[in-house]
Amino acid sequence: MTDDSKRLASDAGHKSDRALWPAVARGWRRKCPKCGSGPLLYSYLKVNDICKVCREELYHHQADDGPAYLTILIVGHIMAPLLLLTFTLWRPEPLTLFTIFAVGCVGLSLYLLPRLKGAIVGFQWARHMHGF
Ligand SMILES: [Zn+2]
Repeated sequence: MTDDSKRLASDAGHKSDRALWPAVARGWRRKCPKCGSGPLLYSYLKVNDICKVCREELYHHQADDGPAYLTILIVGHIMAPLLLLTFTLWRPEPLTLFTIFAVGCVGLSLYLLPRLKGAIVGFQWARHMHGF
């Protein structure tokens, strides 16, 4: 049995050693998924290689396009019905409507993106994905 197959076999029974939702919640708060106190991110979206508090290795993460996908999904599902509702109820000037929703979409996206990235890194950490 190779080292990889031993690791995969031992990973199959990992369910209870790392709680999923506390790790996701810590990631959402942009904190280390293990200790919850060290910063997970620096310069907006870059993940620290190791936690500065508990020394947990964090460079294994592979969030890729997941946070951007979820951000677009959530912002779209909030703002599109809101746009229709606003237009139907109040019929504001087109430039007013555009300005409010452009600022709202960008603001909500900037708020959600680092939090969703943290949540995905927390999810990957809790599930021992990608070498965590
Ligand atoms: Zn930590």
